[in-house]
Order: sequence, then structure tokens, then C-alpha cells
Amino acid sequence: MKTDITRRYFLQTTSLAGASLSLGLANSRAAETDGTSAKPAVLGGEPVCSGGFPGWPVFDETEEKALRETLHSGQWYRGSGKAVAGFEEAYAKLTGAKHCLATSCGTSALTTTLGALEIGPGDEVILPPYTFVATYNVIVLNYALPIFVDSDLETFQIDANKIEAAITERTRAIVPVHLGGSSVDLDKVLEVGKKHKIPVIEDACQSHLAEWRGQKVGTWGTGGCFSFQASKNLNSGEGGAVLTNDHDFAEICRSFHDQGRAGHVAARFAYSGTRGSNLRLCEFQGNLLLAQMTRLEEQSKRRTENATYLTKMLREIPGILPAKMYEGCTRNAYHLYMFRYQKDQFANLTRAKFMTALGKEGVPCSGGYSPMNRSAYVLGLTRTRHYQKTYPSETLNRWAERNQCPKNDQLCQEAVWFTQNMLLGPRTDMDKIAEAIRRIQKHAGEVAKV
Ligand SMILES: *Cc1c(COP(=O)(O)O)cnc(C)c1O
Repeated sequence: MKTDITRRYFLQTTSLAGASLSLGLANSRAAETDGTSAKPAVLGGEPVCSGGFPGWPVFDETEEKALRETLHSGQWYRGSGKAVAGFEEAYAKLTGAKHCLATSCGTSALTTTLGALEIGPGDEVILPPYTFVATYNVIVLNYALPIFVDSDLETFQIDANKIEAAITERTRAIVPVHLGGSSVDLDKVLEVGKKHKIPVIEDACQSHLAEWRGQKVGTWGTGGCFSFQASKNLNSGEGGAVLTNDHDFAEICRSFHDQGRAGHVAARFAYSGTRGSNLRLCEFQGNLLLAQMTRLEEQSKRRTENATYLTKMLREIPGILPAKMYEGCTRNAYHLYMFRYQKDQFANLTRAKFMTALGKEGVPCSGGYSPMNRSAYVLGLTRTRHYQKTYPSETLNRWAERNQCPKNDQLCQEAVWFTQNMLLGPRTDMDKIAEAIRRIQKHAGEVAKV
């Protein structure tokens, strides 16, 4: 491998030198372009990305006007205004869903769908361990038993081939997460759900505009949940939505998110008897989302272009394995840019030190999720009063063992993430990221000693 790298860099350098010479440029210019010869910033060199990356959120007078409009209208609540309803219509149209219900956040979108399915004590719900903790919390807030299904190392998504083995007669929902803007293997997930007559709730909180076989994710299962929290690709500070093509399910969700009441004014105080809560979005957020949506498609295209280009370069670097997409994923929204870092290709430089070195080059990154299924928080579930009352000790004793996810453990040790805003700049930003990584690799032995 080592000789291979050296040889490739050599070829790259010589061909650049050749090009420079033929353009009449000095040789030193070519050496400069081949960033690997420079010292990493962590060893005292110049950082590759001194200019930083685009900031987030992105806004201008469009957002200012939208917020002022709501302010002056005096109609701040969805019951009286038209911004939230307008957003629901627009988001349904954009995604091709029959129904869209806006909620106060992504977590409340998930809560709404699980509430509409009447998930409760004694039920089991399947989820991946590689997700934001909200996916887990909505299950345990209903006193249902979360069952983790291991990750697919190549794609970072739930391993759909392992779902069926996790199903029991108590399984009431499957909640796959379209992680990082990509898609789970929806063909397989939906097939298992259909076979066992278990509803699929897509956690699409990170995957606005992503597609599976040309159709938007979040529109395939019984329900699909989105988040508009500040870090997400569509942002109103806090916010969320449920998509569904099922009319009855949409009605139950609408009622659930509004104190269990039926949607129409005449019924507002005629207690309908369904459980529910106040999980409504407000008019300011609705109007802000309409403004932000004018940028969504273009930003999303830019992320995809940059990410695709970056992947091509990173695949050439031994020990850097960008997350793959399933063949059916026809559009990746790149909420995160994720890859696996293999230290044996970097002179055993630890991931932590690699990330520090990358940070010094001006490329911020994170190691992503830690293994949720092994956390003290999750493992403590079986010792809580309500779980001990609800589940047979036999079930609780076997639970941790059922939740072993060895691939996910490995993934959590190897993953490195970039955030979506880093993909919003010019293509040259991607060149710099790749250059920073190559530079660290070239000097990995010395970097390891820092
Ligand atoms: C962000 C997120 C949520 C929760 O959304 P909030 O709007 O923060 O409540 C749920 N699941 C996943 C995968 C997320 O990334």
C-alpha cells in the first residue's frame, strides 16, 4: 500500500510539474499545488483552510420580511394565521406527500406518529443505535421497549437484513433512520414491515429532499418525520413535520398534535377522547420555513455536487472510506458528510489525533455518535420502576444481550463527520479538505508523536 501511495503522489506531482512547465510556470508552483509536501499545521505548518467554511444559518431580507409580516399580523398561533398551513401545503407539494402536518420539532413529529399508532407499555419498537438520542427517547417516553438493530458499516444505516430477526409478537413499529441525508435500504425495510404487518415510521429528520428510487424519503412508510431544528438542512430554529399518504393516519396525527382534538373549530371544545398534547408549530416558524424553503433546492444541489466531488477524491486516500449509498438511494441530502477513518493506513495515528490535526488545518470535524445501546443511560432502563413493573424480568434480563451491535461499535470508533454547511462553499473548499487529509497522512508518523 505504502509504495502505492508514494507512487501515486509522485505521478501526480510530475504531471502537475509537466503542466506547469508547459504553461511556463516555475516548478515551485507545482510543489505548492501538491499540498502533501507541506508540513501539517499541527506540526507548525500553514493551515490548508485558513479561510473557514460557509456559516449557518443563511438568511437575508426574505426572512426578515417574513418574520415582520407575522409580527404585524398579530396572528402568531397556527389556529388564526395561515403561514403554518401554507408551509404544510408547500412541503407536501415539494415532497409529493398527500399530507403534511407541521409540529413543534422533529421529536414531536416522532411522538405524534408513535402516539397515533398507540405505542405503549409492553410494545417493542425497532430502531438503529446510530442515531440522535431523540429516536430512542420517543420510544421510552411511551414505556415501549426499544430494540436496536445493528448498523451496516459501509453505509452507516440500519442493517435492514437484520431487522426480521429482531421482530417478536410484541413488535409494534419499525423506526429506521435515514442518517446523514442518505437513505436506509427502503426496499428491504418496507418488505419486512409488510410481511409482518408492522408499520414503518421513517425518521427522516436529517434527510430533507433525499430520495429512494426517485421518490422522496419520508413518504414511503406509514409516516415520515422531519426536523427543522437549527442544525438541519431546513431550519426554523425548532420545528418539525410528519408526512403521510394515509388520510386516516394524517387525521389522527393532526388530532394528536393538538390535544387530541378534531381539527375544526366546531369541535374545539368537544373533547374527542383521543390522547394528545400540544405539539403545534407557530406562525413565525411557519413563515420562516417558507422563506428558508426558497433556498433549499439550490443549497441541496450544491451540497450534493461538492460531496460527490469530495468522495471521488477521498476514495483515493487509503484508510478513508466515505459512507456508501444503497443503489436505490437516488438522492442524498448530505446533512452530514461521513467517512470511516482507518488508522492502520495512517501509521496508527489515533482517530482523536487525526481529528485534532484536521481541526488545526482549519477543517472542523467530529467523531459522531458514541454507541447508544451501550451507554449507561440506555442500560439503566431495565432498572427503572416502570419498566420493572411492565416487563417480565426474563425480558429485561435478555434485553442488553438482544441489543448487541458489534458493527455499530466499530462504526462509532472509526467515523468522522463534517457538517452540511461545509459543503455550501466553492469546490475549491473540497480540494482543501482532501489536501489536509493527504498532508496528515504523509506525515502521520510525526503527527502521532505530538
Ligand atoms: C434532529 C433529529 C431528531 C430530533 O429533531 P428535533 O427537531 O431536534 O426534535 C430526531 N432524529 C434524528 C435522526 C435527528 O437528527
